[in-house]
Amino acid sequence: MTQIFDDPANFADEALDGFVAANRQYVSRVDGGVVRATASPRGQVAVVVGGGSGHYPAFAGLVGAGLAAGSACGNMFASPAAGQVYRVAKAAHNGGGVLLSYGNYAGDVLHFGQAQVRLNAEGIETRTVLVTDDIASAPADQLDKRRGIAGDLTVFKIAGAAAEEGRDLDEVERLAILANARTRSLGVAFDGCTLPGAPEPLFHVPAGLMALGLGIHGEPGISEHPMPTASELAELLVSRLLEDRPENPGTRVVPIVNGLGTVKYDELFLLFGKVEKLLTAAGLTVVEPECGELVTSLDMSGLSLTLLWLDDELERLWAAPADTPAFRKGAVARRARREVNAAADRLDTDSEQPTAAAATLGRHAVSAIAAVRDVVVEHEQELGRLDAIAGDGDHGIGMRRGVEAADTAARATEAADGGASVRRILAAAGEAWSEKAGGTSGALWGTAVIAAGAALGNRECYTGQDAAAAVEAFAAAIIELGKAELGDKTMVDALLPFRDAFTAAISDGAPLDRALAVAAAAAGAAADETAGLRPLKGRARPLAEKSLGHPDPGAVSFGLIVERLGRHIDAEFIGQGAKA
Ligand code: ADP
Ligand code: MG
Repeated sequence: MTQIFDDPANFADEALDGFVAANRQYVSRVDGGVVRATASPRGQVAVVVGGGSGHYPAFAGLVGAGLAAGSACGNMFASPAAGQVYRVAKAAHNGGGVLLSYGNYAGDVLHFGQAQVRLNAEGIETRTVLVTDDIASAPADQLDKRRGIAGDLTVFKIAGAAAEEGRDLDEVERLAILANARTRSLGVAFDGCTLPGAPEPLFHVPAGLMALGLGIHGEPGISEHPMPTASELAELLVSRLLEDRPENPGTRVVPIVNGLGTVKYDELFLLFGKVEKLLTAAGLTVVEPECGELVTSLDMSGLSLTLLWLDDELERLWAAPADTPAFRKGAVARRARREVNAAADRLDTDSEQPTAAAATLGRHAVSAIAAVRDVVVEHEQELGRLDAIAGDGDHGIGMRRGVEAADTAARATEAADGGASVRRILAAAGEAWSEKAGGTSGALWGTAVIAAGAALGNRECYTGQDAAAAVEAFAAAIIELGKAELGDKTMVDALLPFRDAFTAAISDGAPLDRALAVAAAAAGAAADETAGLRPLKGRARPLAEKSLGHPDPGAVSFGLIVERLGRHIDAEFIGQGAKA
């Protein structure tokens, strides 16, 4: 039971504030999480970790010299929003690029992924290494489907040590991938955990039973067993992990016995003693082990065993010094404080002053978003019906929620300072879109709108080439985040024909209105043609047969939007006799 709080809705935020107050020599608070309070050599890769709150010391407790440079901290058991990840990464960035690393959960993948696209678009080179250590969550031939549990620690530690050694982003990424490939975990639970303010635990394990492989948020496990003795439990965990060895395992392992919340340290030590004997009996050498609470789940009763299979490189990095609130190893020389610029985690664009001409263009961006809102609202029902055929029916409402939030944010941004650049308007609109829409399409649209805005920047006029570059940035963001290909039956099937037709028309010297009209027609036709495709990406994939004969909802909405944008621009510029 979680008992200490005022308003449970503020639990994660207030706990984080208190954590920072108690660990001020290590961490500084920024919007969305924490970053190191100590200085690191310029150019060092920033390893940025994160996830939902409730897993202390993951994730904020692992920020410090030799380990993470920052942590994005979401609400209880909920992914941080893309904007939080983005701001923490920006504040942590130290000139050497960013490695994002976190457990493989759908929400985190979507939100960290959006932040990555945005950071890359701004020239902060960013990569991702997912932690997938839980052998209970998918078979060995589907390693990438496994979720991340206590293996977070080994992957973050190796990546952080590599960054501390001054390795570049390629190397830090390679070593994090290697660490993940050589880390295996298996957990057991004896009872569930209770979110602050909730009357009941999130889940239960029946009395007298133990759930093998149950996830840290109560995700289904492999099987239930009568409560074993300590020796039986050690035998079970060790034998399952040894069956799931990585390739070329070697004989040197780091075992980690991790408590999930309410198992006493004495019990963990007792179990560790038995685990160590079994590993040694199997011919393995135990190297610098850990036993304690390293990745928890509130007050969950349970524990996990992790094995990191070492090679020479990993052994050196595992043994390297680290100094963080919750994890210390070796001796780290005292470091100077790093002044975290309170503004560093804010948008670059927040303080930007547009000229009158740039603000006029910003106003056009606001009115273009309003036009997009109108067309989405007009077609909400139809888009919902299309998505209900093989998806979950929420495309209409999701798009409406997203674009209405974008419209409100764009207008508020414009009004706040009596004018804003196109870049700033689109950044505010895109962020609101992805946060409020929920769902895949909201994340894609929000990220792409921000990317188009970043390409357009804060300028006083735009050429056709500038427009083509913005369309290219929009498309590149969707592909980088969604990873769909032509023919997968997604919005990409309308987007790419649009981009290609637009670019071709512009390079043939067509004026903007003409290029948009031609490209929108190509997008509309391509959206119709998706009726003949089977979905290979997204929620509609399992119901592929049902979807045949009907166009993809995301492709249809894209076609409708660009068609309306074409007419809108025609009316706004050309209709008023402003044709250049
Ligand atoms: P959700 O799928 O989360 O319910 P929506 O229903 O709003 O979100 O959007 C569904 C649309 O999103 C699909 O019709 C497809 O066009 C688009 N989509 C889904 N996954 C991808 C992806 N990986 N890349 C590009 N577009 C995608
Ligand atoms: Mg849907």
